[in-house]
Amino acid sequence: SNVPMPTNEPVKEYRPGSPERNAVIQAIADFRAQETDIPMYIGGQEVRTNRTIRVAPPHDHKHTLGYFHEGDAEHVHQAIEAALTAKEAWANLSWEQRSSIFLKAAELIAGPYRARINAATMLGQSKNAYQAEIDSACELIDFLRFNVHYAEGIYRQQPNSSAGVWNRLEYRPLEGFVFALTPFNFTAIAGNLPTSAALMGNTVVWKPAYTQVLSAKVIMEVLEEAGLPAGVINLIYVDGPVAGEIIFSHPDFAGIHFTGSTAVFQQIWKTIGENISKYKSYPRIVGETGGKDFVLVHESAHVDEVATGLVRGAFEYQGQKCSAASRAYIPSSLWPAVEAKIKSFLGEMKMGGTEDFGNFINAVIDERSFRKITAYIEEAKQNAQVSVVAGGTYDDSIGYFIEPTVLRVDDPNYRTMCEEIFGPVLSIYVYEPADFDEIVKLVDRTSPYALTGSIFAKDKYVVERVAQALQNAAGNFYINDKPTGAVVGQQPFGGARASGTNDKAGSALNLFRWVSARTIKETY
Ligand code: GLU
Repeated sequence: SNVPMPTNEPVKEYRPGSPERNAVIQAIADFRAQETDIPMYIGGQEVRTNRTIRVAPPHDHKHTLGYFHEGDAEHVHQAIEAALTAKEAWANLSWEQRSSIFLKAAELIAGPYRARINAATMLGQSKNAYQAEIDSACELIDFLRFNVHYAEGIYRQQPNSSAGVWNRLEYRPLEGFVFALTPFNFTAIAGNLPTSAALMGNTVVWKPAYTQVLSAKVIMEVLEEAGLPAGVINLIYVDGPVAGEIIFSHPDFAGIHFTGSTAVFQQIWKTIGENISKYKSYPRIVGETGGKDFVLVHESAHVDEVATGLVRGAFEYQGQKCSAASRAYIPSSLWPAVEAKIKSFLGEMKMGGTEDFGNFINAVIDERSFRKITAYIEEAKQNAQVSVVAGGTYDDSIGYFIEPTVLRVDDPNYRTMCEEIFGPVLSIYVYEPADFDEIVKLVDRTSPYALTGSIFAKDKYVVERVAQALQNAAGNFYINDKPTGAVVGQQPFGGARASGTNDKAGSALNLFRWVSARTIKETY
């Protein structure tokens, strides 16, 4: 290999008085001291409009962090034109030349931008310092570095040749532009979706969630400083349907790199289907969507490991991970001990703003989310077949705070066991140990999703039997661990069924989707 062999970026601990904590405190103070102006970036230009939308910390929604400039149809056209204009020169660079820009971006985030991007994620998306560090610093850095490493592996794969015949595979970028549509919940994903396609020689129109614009701006600052040429990645803030109508009917639309809800992804897929005869090529459709991730506990499991896995898996980042543990199946023999442990862990956990580093639980992302999650909690409270084991309260007077909530359900098909809530709600079904085989089948058919899942068991035969029986139920399957926290280069991430196209983020499988190969046979 002639690219630097990547290793995972070490996670900093943010201990009191440490330089990294002081730097992030300063970066937070800087953001708080002024209102940040957040332009779009089209063709290397900052673009401002007279439609500005206020940005506030979810945990302190009366404070104004800044304003972003919302664009309209005209800006979508401009972004597409900018991407198409930049395409030829970008695609003609060698992959090594493109790669060094992203390696440089990784260095900038690891060093001078680390505090700023973490502060933006802590304030704008209400992640605590640890959750921000593993996301906007480490995971984003890892994506940038490992993608270069995987790309090298792709470009090196060549067919056989023989005397008089020289065969070659050219891994060309897609013809046209790629659309990246990114979520609020991971700054790393927001950064990875446009940059991975761009690394392979594509130019991109990038539309982030309106709730991630502060850290999106920092990503753009980093890419510009790293030397990304104008027009390679064009960042726009435009209403979804307005952007979609133009992008999905454009003849040069070459692919979508998506993370978000199943409903939106299915709508996009349908729209692409309806427009299929308009495109020059069949577009690549790559999406990571929802999850209803399970934790299946066998009676041979270790109680402390189960309780830790459940609490961390369900409640870190307020359960707003596609991978979050949201339905658990626990044998009656272990339930009293697991329940006691969960309650004791939750009793120690503080909830509040991200500026206080002692808070484990912060706010959910916005009012819409708050309403949706609390409606599930209210309905559960009214239902005689559901009991609230922990939590159940909420308050949006200062920020969108919802207490980590554990529900015990009598009906394993109750809606909180089946539907994605995307918040701090864990539903538990307690089963009789003798019914274990039935429960395994139930886990498989209870939800349409197949993103992540965990089995907790010390019995090896049980582990293997469950791994086999649930082979299609989770794209990321964990044995005696929580179902969240996949690390780039270690656990390539993605799911099938209603959870997406399973083109694992942070692996060569994903990067292959962004090339369109030409085979050349030359005789001599
Ligand atoms: N990769 C993340 C994890 O393993 C989840 C990504 C997502 O929420 O989309 O926890």
